[in-house]
Amino acid sequence: MAEDTPCILRVAVAGPLPGLFDYLPPPDGDKEALRPGVRVLAPFGRGNRVGMIVARSAQTTQAADRLKPIEAALDEAPLLGASDLEFILWAADYYKHAPGDALFSALPARLRRPERSLEAGEPGWRLTPEGEAQAAEAFARAPRQGQVVELLRESGQELPSAEISRHLGDCRSALRSMAAKGWIEPCRIRPALLGADARAPADGPALNAHQRRAVASVQGTLGRFHACLLEGVTGSGKTEVYIHLLAAALASGRQALILVPEIGLTPQLQRRLAERIAAPMVTLHSGLNASERERAWRSAALGEADLVLGTRSAVFVPLPRLGLILVDEEHDLSFKQQDGFRYSARDLAVRRAQKTGCPVVLGSATPSLETLHNAQSGRYGLLDLPERAGGARPPELALLDIRSQPLRGGLSPVLVRLMQEQFAAGNQVLLFLNRRGFAPVLTCHDCGWVGECPRCDARLTLHLAASRLWCHHCGLSRPVPGQCPDCQGPDLRPLGRGTERLEAELRTLFPETPLARVDRDSTRRKGELDRLLAAARRGDFPLLLGTQMLSKGHHFPRVTLVGILDVDQGLYGADFRAQERMAQLVTQVAGRAGRAERAGRVVLQTRHPDHPLLRTLQQRGYPAFALAALEERRVAMLPPFAHQALMRAESRDPEAATELLRRAMQAALSHADGHLELLGPIPAPMERRAGRYRAHLLAQSNQRPILQRFLTAWLPEVRSLKGASRARWSLDVDPQEML
Ligand code: ADP
Ligand code: ZN
Ligand code: ZN
Repeated sequence: MAEDTPCILRVAVAGPLPGLFDYLPPPDGDKEALRPGVRVLAPFGRGNRVGMIVARSAQTTQAADRLKPIEAALDEAPLLGASDLEFILWAADYYKHAPGDALFSALPARLRRPERSLEAGEPGWRLTPEGEAQAAEAFARAPRQGQVVELLRESGQELPSAEISRHLGDCRSALRSMAAKGWIEPCRIRPALLGADARAPADGPALNAHQRRAVASVQGTLGRFHACLLEGVTGSGKTEVYIHLLAAALASGRQALILVPEIGLTPQLQRRLAERIAAPMVTLHSGLNASERERAWRSAALGEADLVLGTRSAVFVPLPRLGLILVDEEHDLSFKQQDGFRYSARDLAVRRAQKTGCPVVLGSATPSLETLHNAQSGRYGLLDLPERAGGARPPELALLDIRSQPLRGGLSPVLVRLMQEQFAAGNQVLLFLNRRGFAPVLTCHDCGWVGECPRCDARLTLHLAASRLWCHHCGLSRPVPGQCPDCQGPDLRPLGRGTERLEAELRTLFPETPLARVDRDSTRRKGELDRLLAAARRGDFPLLLGTQMLSKGHHFPRVTLVGILDVDQGLYGADFRAQERMAQLVTQVAGRAGRAERAGRVVLQTRHPDHPLLRTLQQRGYPAFALAALEERRVAMLPPFAHQALMRAESRDPEAATELLRRAMQAALSHADGHLELLGPIPAPMERRAGRYRAHLLAQSNQRPILQRFLTAWLPEVRSLKGASRARWSLDVDPQEML
């Protein structure tokens, strides 16, 4: 840009501020360095805030005398490339979120503050040729230095500082004096070439015909946009397909991004990929500390890491050579961020692939109805793996009518007998109960008092080991009362059953059988989940019980019987997605059975054995269920046949939230036309939560652009509504839960 043309910087300022802000370059600085993707410190209000330049322009709508120069640039080079920047801003616009907040929540935590970015790679030490050439005598009087040299030699000349002190303890003075002599030098360790003993992907099992077709089909689309659903029953070898696709993308010099729903799944997949693919890989998830995360992020952004494996937020990681995106377990709700910047990482992955011009594969045994619909309508390709790989047989699902059955610990006699048979044969049994704690209700036998949360419309869950009543909605916890708070009666009784109670009952029923319980309470300690799962895989526990934590992606070769204890509430849930979620859960849990050479059986206890959903699921499996459910959605004009945006409001005052939405509704009416439906305000399903009253307003259209245009016109009016300060509100585009 020539010196005399005005240079206006358009800046996304960090924080929940709608829109961008215009600034001038600092009077003396180098204007060329002020490029999009560079962070700046900009005067805002009475202080300075961090922001990011998103564009340069010759014009501004601001009055010239109101424009202020930025204080300083914080980066020498852009942190985000043009297409990454554009992608995040597109996402902010689509989800109607503040651009500055979207951009900065996509950056590593430290970079949201005015701090310099860390160099990629970990700080470490490298052996120099002089150091290498030193004979053993040189260290006769300096054994610490000798140990350092030995360690570096063994590890291929260089090691992160943290590794060195892990092996040798504090040896900073040895390192200092060796560095002074020029025997070692500081360096940055690049992301590990994981899989030092890497074999080619061809060294895995020979692919079957379905897998080969899937690989060939996606491989043929490298270099252009193509979205496809990889629908493969549990154990059908989806991961093998991923491995071959990744290898193909890497071989052509591209980077690949793999998104998984949960941190619990990353170590397993990471290990498997590392064994098979020789490429620098980084993982990104919430279990890393801030600087580990930032270094991994930088390695991806600089193109040093070829493979990036991460959870939801990794969809925003800058990748200059991105050539393939995989989304595993695409139906999983964890891909949707439920607060702040409410985005769907799965949907954004497709969008990103489209903008990048690369293929994206959405894999699942139980695809979401949204994705299935896209595949059916031809927008996405469909690849299926209908059989279990390696000859493992699909599990059989049996419905067990428990009406008028004498239950022990919630288990019917038939299930107990089946379990005993499996234990006798040396097999493993998995029981699934999706409710943690001892009992969901504590009640007084004399007067009917029920333990309720004072802040929510909800009951308190009894946790017996902790001896507390807990609210699973707001986190409130209080000691278990010794007597009824109302009538002082002594007879307080737990009603219903959670995993904690089931565990106690199973220990009585099967006193000889070692068991492990896997739920959020039993795995609070760091590393505990990994430890339990590893022991479970080895077969240390013939009996496993747990919540949906046990249902995801884990492979337990010895499990031959899965018992599903109580999913009946999913049949009649208030949310229109309740049945879809229940079918996915049942199918995923069932998929834990018989994944190796041992055949598997699944028993689902129910009081509604004739329910059409259960029947379809049992007789014809998830795909048939999904078709039927899709048809119901079409008739009812629900997603994916309609597009929704949910406005939520909450307030301490019982009226303020509803009142705000009533005015928002009024403002909306002037923008509505025949293709837009507005519903509300109505109370949220749980009207009071954490002491706040909550209400909803739903906007819906069968055409996405109409909904988008409406939101863009409407939201500025909502922001300027009077009374908006007495209630908090937020907007959720494509909401996944109507809570
Ligand atoms: P998914 O990801 O669909 O659950 P995996 O890729 O984990 O399935 O495969 C399940 C099991 O089957 C693994 O133990 C895997 O090594 C094995 N497997 C995958 N593909 C084949 C194949 N073509 N032949 C033999 N075994 C296979
Ligand atoms: Zn009482
Ligand atoms: Zn509560």
